[in-house]
Amino acid sequence: MNTVDVTIIGGGPCGLFAAFYAGLRGMSVRIVDSLSELGGQLTALYPEKYVYDMPGFPKVLAKDLAKNLIEQGTQFNPEIVLEETANQLEKTDEGYAIRTEAGVYPTRTVIISAGAGAFSPTKLGVENEEHYIGRGLMYGVRDKKSLEGKRVAIVGGGDSAFDWALNLLDTAGPISLIHRRDVFKAHEDSVHQVQNSRVEMHLWRAVKALHGTDKLEGITLENTQTKELQEFPCDAIVVNIGFKSSLGPIKDWGLDIQKNQVVVDHKFETNLPGVFAIGDVCSFAEKLKLIATGVGEAATAVCFAKTRLDPDAKLFPGHSSDRDL
Ligand SMILES: Cc1cc2nc3c(=O)[nH]c(=O)nc-3n(C[C@H](O)[C@H](O)[C@H](O)COP(=O)(O)OP(=O)(O)OC[C@H]3O[C@@H](n4cnc5c(N)ncnc54)[C@H](O)[C@@H]3O)c2cc1C
Repeated sequence: MNTVDVTIIGGGPCGLFAAFYAGLRGMSVRIVDSLSELGGQLTALYPEKYVYDMPGFPKVLAKDLAKNLIEQGTQFNPEIVLEETANQLEKTDEGYAIRTEAGVYPTRTVIISAGAGAFSPTKLGVENEEHYIGRGLMYGVRDKKSLEGKRVAIVGGGDSAFDWALNLLDTAGPISLIHRRDVFKAHEDSVHQVQNSRVEMHLWRAVKALHGTDKLEGITLENTQTKELQEFPCDAIVVNIGFKSSLGPIKDWGLDIQKNQVVVDHKFETNLPGVFAIGDVCSFAEKLKLIATGVGEAATAVCFAKTRLDPDAKLFPGHSSDRDL
């Protein structure tokens, strides 16, 4: 792996803005996120909610804000590592190395923008669940084409489940939406669209077992009211029943942590030289957990990381409007 100027741990709004700003300042960037897509809480927790406190946007859907942040954050082509959790931080001669379950990533500086910690999808909690991951069971859709013509069961009653049901209409074969109640958290417009589509709704049902040999071939559903069991053939199951977050491994990196947040100074630098923390994960007196303030922290941290790497560089980046990007 090549050594980058800065590795950003967490591709939420603050991490994405840090990636943009570091690119603007001519730094090489890597973003690592445990989720399968960028956007952090905006994408994972409230994609269909309106956000009203973004400068320049009287109101904007969280998923649209995420889309714009991703476009802006990736315009200098950062290396993007998804579905890997930064588990360890080791000191090296050049700076640091970040170890995930799949690789070791060398870097000169680090910006931790990990929010409340690494998100991981809530699992069904049934036997053999691990065995079927990648063999028909998924917690998000990475490759829509892989579901072409397949019998797809989508589990969940929130925005992600309904968004995927609608998104797969042009690709998948028969689509079923399975939910343990008849009340949905999803936006009512998406619910209405799904109810008026070819998606079959299976309400008051929970997945109790997965079947197949090498690949998933079917599931057992339980009626959550009568407890009656039903066999249900399908080729793929997309589970969208929420996320858990945990600061987890970051707690063991030797950082000064208070109340689950990383303590920083006025440069947003932690007690480890060259390791910065921004956004929801950082802590200082009177900290506000807002995107508008977090992206300002991102710009400041990047400028201090830049001057750390290049003592001749100015802290003030100049105005972006003076550039031609
Ligand atoms: C329902 C709801 C509504 C909200 N509405 C607003 C609003 O209107 N206005 C506003 O300003 N704010 C709002 N917020 C808060 C806002 O979403 C957060 O302040 C913001 O998302 C913080 O951004 P972040 O980049 O710091 O972290 P996050 O968005 O939390 O992103 C952190 C990312 O880091 C990843 N990560 C963490 N640890 C690791 C690791 N070890 N390895 C790899 N990846 C890791 C996570 O998977 C995640 O993707 C709302 C929050 C919620 C829950």
